[in-house]
Amino acid sequence: MAPLAIDGWFTIEDGVTHLLGTRCAGCGTVAFPPRAGFCGNPRCEGGSPAPVRLSRKGRVWSYTNACYPPPAPYVAAEPYTPVTLAAVELADEGLVVLGQVTAGLTVDDLSVGMELELTSGPLADGPIVWMWGRPDE
Ligand SMILES: [Zn+2]
Repeated sequence: MAPLAIDGWFTIEDGVTHLLGTRCAGCGTVAFPPRAGFCGNPRCEGGSPAPVRLSRKGRVWSYTNACYPPPAPYVAAEPYTPVTLAAVELADEGLVVLGQVTAGLTVDDLSVGMELELTSGPLADGPIVWMWGRPDE
């Protein structure tokens, strides 16, 4: 399998993709990407973040297409193929996590509130990254 695009933010086990976050042992605040050291909640009495896997399903909070290649250091395919991005509110945590949607899904297929499920796929230059896809994929 191709390398993961980023270490420590997600994992793929037996073909199932999981986002990796942290949950504060003191106040329960969940963070993504995972936090090290201290809790991000200013009202927290203290507690250290522990690793946790996040919901694999959520609902579309917003979405767009990226018709122009982003600037370096992003590596865009030549010729550039537009991608579709979705910000998905995780079912249990309520965090909104941005991701590319799977090939074949476009803005015409998406709507605010529709359910998507976490999966993964290759970026234009090869590494694997988490993506949002239809729940039945
Ligand atoms: Zn806390």
